[in-house]
Amino acid sequence: MVNMKLVLLGPPGSGKGTQAKLIVKDFNIPQISTGDLLRAAIKKSTELGLKAKKFMNTGKLVPDDIVLQLLKERLNQDDCIRGFILDGYPRNLSQAQDLKMITNIDFVINIEVNYGLLIERITGRRTCKQCGAIYHIKYSPSKKEGICDKCSGRLFQREDDVEETVKKRIATYEHETKPLIEFYQQQGILERLTSDGTIDEMYQKFSSLLRMKFQLQE
Ligand code: AMP
Repeated sequence: MVNMKLVLLGPPGSGKGTQAKLIVKDFNIPQISTGDLLRAAIKKSTELGLKAKKFMNTGKLVPDDIVLQLLKERLNQDDCIRGFILDGYPRNLSQAQDLKMITNIDFVINIEVNYGLLIERITGRRTCKQCGAIYHIKYSPSKKEGICDKCSGRLFQREDDVEETVKKRIATYEHETKPLIEFYQQQGILERLTSDGTIDEMYQKFSSLLRMKFQLQE
């Protein structure tokens, strides 16, 4: 049985979360999104969540120790035994070092995107409150406006998906996260994919790459 420990890198709006959800279905490993873990902690008003909120709402990174604590708890759960996809972690070099101390990553995929597309993609994003499905008002709208096709839950715009915060998040990515491309390239475990097609076309590229890397049949 395959054991895959993956990291997806890419700026906000590169489609990491969407592709990760497709990998989950196809390869049966969980998606671990530190953004989702943080949003869940905020919703539950935990101590960590309350600390994280002010950073997230201004497009800054949440302090490393808070994210690491949430991540460690999540990686200890049983469903991670055959691997996982990290979506949104690590976000800077010190998190990459932290990660190295707790597990070995097999493969990192960096999604490259034309910057003009990012703002439009993120500000048009809508998420289902109930099941987490992701839509886009222009590129992948739900059949009924504001309602999830899968579970009829309500769609909402994330607080940090408004244009001003998105611009800050992209700047944070440029300064802090981009150096990770070189970090993983030097270790020989990085592959680059350009995000230039539809969600399905992108997924074809992802799945072929993963099957080749892990020597799985199509
Ligand atoms: P995301 O859902 O990945 O776009 O993350 C949304 C926000 O959560 C980011 O803008 C950060 O404020 C915070 N966040 C998510 N993952 C991390 C991380 N690994 N380190 C620090 N902050 C994070």
